[in-house]
Amino acid sequence: MDQQTLILLGQYLNENLSLETCDNSLKKSAEWLQAMQVDDVEEHISWLEEQGVSCDCEVVIKLYIPAREEEIDDKEKVTE
Ligand SMILES: [Zn+2]
Repeated sequence: MDQQTLILLGQYLNENLSLETCDNSLKKSAEWLQAMQVDDVEEHISWLEEQGVSCDCEVVIKLYIPAREEEIDDKEKVTE
């Protein structure tokens, strides 16, 4: 999954999910990928699992938040 897709997915999950409502699956991620009409949903889900992510809230915690921090770092470097 590319960085941009990951950020968009993370944003969506961050807004539509909380730890309390996570059902310990990647269902919402799969639904979002389908809605975005990516043609390899299964592959994206496998990729997430390979990153050690087993449910939607972990996408946010393990991937989205670190990815965003990286993005902010990059922007700071540009303006330096
Ligand atoms: Zn979860």
